Amino acid sequence: MDSFGRVIDYLRISVTDRCNERCLYCMPEGYKGWAQKADHLTADEIIKVVAAACRVGFRKFRLTGGEPCIRKDLIQIAAGVSKQAKVRALVVSTNGTRLATLAAPLREAGVDSINISLDALDPALYRKITGGEIGAVLAGIDAALATAIPRVKLNCVLMRGVNEEQIWPLIHFAAERELPVRFIELMPLSRTDLLSEENFLSVQEVLSRLAEREELSPMDSPGLGHGPARYYRLRRSGATVGFIGAITTSDFCSGCNKIRLTADGKIRPCLGRHNEFDLLGVLRHRGEVEVEQVLREAIAAKPEDHEFRSCYQPGRPMTAIGG
Ligand code: SAM
Repeated sequence: MDSFGRVIDYLRISVTDRCNERCLYCMPEGYKGWAQKADHLTADEIIKVVAAACRVGFRKFRLTGGEPCIRKDLIQIAAGVSKQAKVRALVVSTNGTRLATLAAPLREAGVDSINISLDALDPALYRKITGGEIGAVLAGIDAALATAIPRVKLNCVLMRGVNEEQIWPLIHFAAERELPVRFIELMPLSRTDLLSEENFLSVQEVLSRLAEREELSPMDSPGLGHGPARYYRLRRSGATVGFIGAITTSDFCSGCNKIRLTADGKIRPCLGRHNEFDLLGVLRHRGEVEVEQVLREAIAAKPEDHEFRSCYQPGRPMTAIGG
């Protein structure tokens, strides 16, 4: 438990800061701040951290990045994590571009939930936002559904004037496949013109726009995870739509249950604060007890709230922290 009574049992692990896409809100153009490869945790080191985290009380783990699916030993990492007796949930966040080949092995390795980023369905707009090709993502979504992974969700970052026309197409696309789609407020996590006031679109505004066309009923979220999203069922289309209002929801952090491990081995108690603890050095030069101690210190240092509403200046971009 942290100093504010929140149970912290969820560790998000960035397995790489590299990505095969180039979303400007996550990685500034021309970014060169890559971690040294030698500072990336090995698969064995990641599994050791998970074992230590389980002893401290963590039960849910996410493999993310950068793009986790570009790491060649991702399946080995997933299998090693899911094998730990106390792991209750293993989730992967991905842009979906490599899921066509990886969805089945990830399922076999014990992954029980996959979040796929999808900011647009229009191929040209998808390319403009991400630098990638939508066809590969659509094939990845099909592959994830074919594996019967218990939970697949779509995530869309809201950008006014960029992808707001995609909101309804995304809702219909998700509803046809019986997938929840979540709309996420843009957070100041990369230095780029895209992160301007003009591009910010709040979840409340989207909610009001949806309510003009469809009746929305709030849902409890059993089976939808224990994260910060608030879910609604759209009566006519049957769509399940989630909203992650990190900026405009005043009590957003009150239910936070996570800390992060960056690809270069730092523990970050809060996405929206710069404070980090070195775990890599401790992992490589000290013992298991000291690793557990760093995790406990990070939990104790977890702040009540993020600083995104207080002129937060991004330090490391999202790709380097881990989403
Ligand atoms: N590459 C994977 C992916 O695309 O999902 C995993 C990493 S990515 C950093 C994880 C999530 O963070 C994605 O859903 C992405 O859209 C979101 N994200 C990245 N930068 C963001 C920002 N500035 N504001 C809000 N969400 C952001």
